[in-house]
Amino acid sequence: MIIDSEGRVIGDTVSFDDVLLQPKYSEIESRSQIDISNYLDDYTYLSLPVLSSPMDTVTETDMATAISSSGGLGVIHRYNTIEEQVELAKKVKGHVACAVGVTGDYEARATSLVEAGCRILCLDVAHGHHALVRKALSTLRKAFDYKTHKVHLMAGNVATLEAFNDLADWGADSIRVGIGGGSICSTRLNTGHGVPTYQSVVDCARSDRDAKLIADGGIKNAGDIVKALAAGADFVMLGSMLAGTDESPGETFTSENKKYKVYRGMASRSAQMEWRGKSSSPEGVSTTIPHKGSVVDILQDITGNVKSGFSYTGATSLEILQSKATFIRQTHAGQLESSTHILRR
Ligand code: IMP
Repeated sequence: MIIDSEGRVIGDTVSFDDVLLQPKYSEIESRSQIDISNYLDDYTYLSLPVLSSPMDTVTETDMATAISSSGGLGVIHRYNTIEEQVELAKKVKGHVACAVGVTGDYEARATSLVEAGCRILCLDVAHGHHALVRKALSTLRKAFDYKTHKVHLMAGNVATLEAFNDLADWGADSIRVGIGGGSICSTRLNTGHGVPTYQSVVDCARSDRDAKLIADGGIKNAGDIVKALAAGADFVMLGSMLAGTDESPGETFTSENKKYKVYRGMASRSAQMEWRGKSSSPEGVSTTIPHKGSVVDILQDITGNVKSGFSYTGATSLEILQSKATFIRQTHAGQLESSTHILRR
């Protein structure tokens, strides 16, 4: 349950693992009949509704190129100089998005990126429902009018419908939804704030604004992707599912004959030390994860699994999935049964 500032209970919240999609009658005979594509804007068609996180252990040129060739979109992180980020973006084959902040050099960064041909800018901050985001959206919207420059402004992150509507009204074309759910995130532990990402998606999907909804943080498997899309997300953003691959930035190292790569939150102590030379109040952790091979294979599996997910609801498109899907709650015993439980015996 959640409680407002006057102590009133204002509702229950639900997480990905609390729900399942009820299988429905289907006439789909092959996954080739299923179209999971979506338009981010008038100029950006994604055959796979997946974006990669703007993190220094997830998205630079190689990841952005691989995900673009698989039908999705990479968002190049902003923890570099303007020149470095421009170079990383220019080398991507196909679509690319780039992250900027909302203070400091963000206007100069955005201008250089747009001049280099990047049409999609992501205003990348932890707490998107903020006056600085409003100001930055207004500044960038004035500098890059959508009709003339065709520049798409992505913003976030938010956790509530009120915040989603505000960012849309402030000029965001798409909004990252999810606070505190990331696999490397310690925001909820260290600040006590957040909303389960699935719940935020359900809440923000009630918006009557046109902005696209990107579910971000805590998506662990293709099943969570299907649940997020069915609950109203237009796209999902993935960090941990794409990290530790050939295409993610960073060295691969070997320990006891096993290969690993680092995956870390951008607000972790180690990321802060590297990019700011100091660290305070971390809201993320750094860890090593087993090396997974090429992200192209992972994206191929995701595509197949997500299409199978649509088929279980009898849906050949995202629109049909969202109109037909029925969610049911599962108990803790149900969650155990839903996992590959022989592996625990
Ligand atoms: P994952 O897919 O569960 O690994 O979550 C990735 C998401 O976590 C990113 O897209 C960001 O929204 C978020 N994130 C990245 N770094 C941090 C951090 O240091 N603290 C909190 N959230 C973070």
